[in-house]
Order: sequence, then C-alpha cells, then structure tokens
Amino acid sequence: MQCPFCQHPNNRVLESRSAESGRSIRRRRECLKCNRRFTTYERIEYVPITVIKRNGDRESFDHSKILRGIARACEKTGIALPQMESVVDDIEAELQQRSHREVESSEIGELVLQHLQAISEVAYVRFASVYRQFRGIRDFAETLSHLQSKALDPDSADSDSQPAANILSMVESR
Ligand SMILES: [Zn+2]
Repeated sequence: MQCPFCQHPNNRVLESRSAESGRSIRRRRECLKCNRRFTTYERIEYVPITVIKRNGDRESFDHSKILRGIARACEKTGIALPQMESVVDDIEAELQQRSHREVESSEIGELVLQHLQAISEVAYVRFASVYRQFRGIRDFAETLSHLQSKALDPDSADSDSQPAANILSMVESR
C-alpha cells in the first residue's frame, strides 16, 4: 500500500479495527518515509456465484429466488421471515467461502434441506418433495424414514418435531 503523500511503498499499521458493522476492517497507517498518517479499508470482495441448473443453463446466484422456495416450504409453520432469510444468508456465505465459483442447483437444494431439517420437519419434507422431485411414494417414504431415524437419535432432539403421519397429511394438502 503506497503512501498517498510520497508514494513510499512501506508503512506500519498503528491501529486495526472493525468498521461498517463488521463488514470491513479500518487500518490507521503511518508512512515509514514521510511519517504522515492515512487510513485504509479492507473489504471482502464478493465474486458472483454461478448456479448450474439441471438443464445445464447457468444463472447467477439469486438470493430472492431461493428465499421464495423456502418461504413456500415454510408456509403455516410459524417460521418467521428473518429466520428464512438467515438460511439463505448462511448458504450464500458458505458458497462464498469456496474457491470454486460454480455450484449445481441440486447442491443448493441439498444445502437448503440441511438447514430446514434443523428448523422444521414439515418445511424439510415439503422442500424435499419439490427439489428432489419425488418420483413416487418410495422416494417420499425414504425421506420420512430418514426423519424418523433422526427423531430416534437423542442428540438431535428437535423442539418442534412432528410425527411423520402429520407431515404426510400436511404435504398432501399443500
Ligand atoms: Zn509518505
């Protein structure tokens, strides 16, 4: 980082602190040649994520599209919008941390499922039925048995878990 006054390339950092609600770091620097002080801001550079759809088409990661899918699955489950938004935020942050800028849409679907599973079984099954495009009762039964085996695991107790029969009736009436 060149000094803005004398263009000397070397300086020392006097102070570093979080700025813009944690989205950047502000550094106070002092030029090693002219001793004048200046400030730099360091921000994360967001490189767009490309989503590869099932049919091979590419589109950029669409926050609101994923949110809409989640909102549909969460209808009448009592899950608040901020909680749905934080699911999309978490997924986007997770994808941003990868070195690869392309992701298959099916993988995003699986990430959504992972998050929904922790929030609501009803939303999980509804989303799975759309994203995995259940080919019949067999696929559906597999998803339910996956949930049931999770329910038997005491380490993953879910406060709003519902019996599988309930989920079945809710999914059928959607
Ligand atoms: Zn200088």
